[in-house]
Order: sequence, then C-alpha cells, then structure tokens
Amino acid sequence: MRPLVQDHIASLKAYEPGKPAQEVERELGLTGVVKLASNENPLGPSPRAMEAVREAASDLHYYPDGGYYLKRALAERFPFEPSEILLGNGSNELIELLIRTFVPPGMHVAGSAGAFIIYKLVTIGCGREFVESPLGADRGYDLEALAARVSRDTRMIFIANPNNPTGSFLSGDAIEGFVEAVDAKCGDDPPILVLDEAYHEYVDREDRLDSFALVRRRPRTVVMRTFSKAYGMAGIRCGYAFASEELCGYVNRIRAPFNVNNLALVAGAAALDDDDFLRRSLAVNREGKVLLTRELKARGFEVSPSQTNFLFVDVHRDGREVFEQLQRRGVIVRPMGAYGLPTCLRITIGTPEQNEKLLGAFDDLELAA
Ligand SMILES: *Cc1c(COP(=O)(O)O)cnc(C)c1O
Repeated sequence: MRPLVQDHIASLKAYEPGKPAQEVERELGLTGVVKLASNENPLGPSPRAMEAVREAASDLHYYPDGGYYLKRALAERFPFEPSEILLGNGSNELIELLIRTFVPPGMHVAGSAGAFIIYKLVTIGCGREFVESPLGADRGYDLEALAARVSRDTRMIFIANPNNPTGSFLSGDAIEGFVEAVDAKCGDDPPILVLDEAYHEYVDREDRLDSFALVRRRPRTVVMRTFSKAYGMAGIRCGYAFASEELCGYVNRIRAPFNVNNLALVAGAAALDDDDFLRRSLAVNREGKVLLTRELKARGFEVSPSQTNFLFVDVHRDGREVFEQLQRRGVIVRPMGAYGLPTCLRITIGTPEQNEKLLGAFDDLELAA
C-alpha cells in the first residue's frame, strides 16, 4: 500500500492554538478567565470595523470584490499602487502563498529558530527545506548566523521584525547590513526577503528600517502587515503585503480568487480610517508594557525588551508548570516549550484590569525555587 501522505506531511505536528478562555472556564469551573496568550488586542476590534461588518451582513450572498476597495484604501494610506498590494486570509495565508509561488523543489527557505514558527511549518508542509539559524544571545535574531546559512539555493528568507515570540527588534542599519551580506553572496540571483511587520504599529524606535524604500530599491523584497494585532481583528483574518507588481502578479496566479471574505475586506478598510482606535490601542499597550515589565522584573523574572504587544518572560523554572498554575488562577499565557525555551512564557499585554489580574495570579503562585 502506498503511504496516504508524504513523509514531510506525516512528520509535521499541527500548530496548537491556545485554548479558548470559555473552555478553560468550563474545565476549571472558573469565571472571568483572561486570555493573554495570542497577542490579541485587549480593547476588542475597532468600533468602525464592527459597524462596517454589521452593515455588510446584508451582502453576504455576494462574492467578495477581490479586494478592490481595500487595496485602494491601502494605496491611499501607503506609497504603493493597488497592483503592488497582496491581500490574504490573515498574513498566515500570505506566508503560504509566497512559499508556494516562489520556492521551487531543490531551493529552500531560511529563517531563525527563535522566530514565528509558522514559517517553518508552512515550508515543510509545502515539501521544501527550512534552513535555520539559532536564536541570538540576547534573544533576538542573530543576523550574522542567518546570513551564514544563506546560499545560492536560498530562495526566500523570513524575518519577523519585531519578532514573535521574543518581542525583539532589528534596527534599519542591522537589516541593511544583512541584506548587503546576503546579496553579495548570491550575486545576480538574490533571495526574496520577506519582512513580517505584524507588530509594526507598536514600534516606537526611531532607528527602524524604511522597509518601503527597501521594496523600491531591492525588488525581491516583500513587506507583510496585518489587521490582527493593533487593529484588533485577529478573528476575521485579514493580512496584506507590499511588493513589486511583478511579484504580486505571480502570487495572484495561484491565489484563490476570493481568498479574503467580504466582512474582512470592509472591516479592514474601516479599521484603516480608525485613527482614534489605533491611538488608544497603542497607548494602552505602552502603559501596560511599562507596568508589567517593572512588576515582573520586581518579582525576579527576566523580561526581554519588547517592541510589540507582548512580553517575553524567563521565569527561571518550568514554564509549563507556571503556565498551568496561572491558568488555574484564571489567566492564560503561552508557554514557550515549542520554541525550545522551556523556562519562558510569552504574555500578551492586556488592559489595566487584566494586567492587575495577571500580577495577582503571579503573587499567588506556589513555586518551587
Ligand atoms: C500575529 C502574527 C502574524 C499575523 O498573522 P495573521 O495571519 O495576519 O493573523 C504574522 N506574523 C507574526 C510574526 C505574528 O506574530
């Protein structure tokens, strides 16, 4: 009998999303469980997006418009033409589309072992090799190590900046230097660099990369963004990317015609205009970040600097155990065992009330030293 699936699929482990708060409440007999595990916006969705979704409910019998209006709205806000914009059912779908479109058999994808695990899962799922550099000493990217792994067989490189799960940030100079090193190595056939800027809105550093200029100057560059984080729309699934018309054209050849649904398209366009919501989201995050960083450090934990809406915390003991104890006290966080960091947790920054509940739960823990 021939195997039902190929080895590269059989060998994969399915991505495990965090358990819903409701389910934790049911299982543990709790109420008011707070989920700080998936980097969702604690303020909920943009009110404008919600209103747009309500209005669009009467149009559910129509097929989506293929992104016509959302691309125009993005083109008004960002320096790209609609033909230079890709839309995906979350940026997760864009990751998959990019790999399927551009990485042929025999070529591979490169990334960091301490970065978003989806790059690796999708690459392997597509039957391609994922070449990995180790996480840097300061729990950031080690770009030198990554550049060293790149060869002429590297077709695509993923860099999450800021990074999930570590929250770390790469400066413009660091990325420019990396690009120079890689391009010097690869000559006339440079890899496609995918810059995943899912947390871009939260960045407050001045030395950030001008990623749009890089797309212009280096056409094998893609910049991905999403409505899932700062815009509060993780549940509706809508991501977007900027790239050359040539690259977008190829992706469009294999993309399902209606990959982004009606509601996501109208919600995205409405959220883009909701400057007030974005401002509030960033302010709540900024205050929560300062508070949680200070308070978690005061409790003896190591908190990595973050340019995102979450904190990467080394609790110096079994993270799974701490996760379970916090969960029993009504707070769900994300243990980092899957990333090979068993003493670490990733904790989404919440509202002031949620942050207090988290700190209270920490104070309640019964931890072996
Ligand atoms: C959350 C996140 C995304 C967003 O994924 P969507 O599919 O758009 O929800 C992308 N990249 C990284 C690194 C993330 O953390």
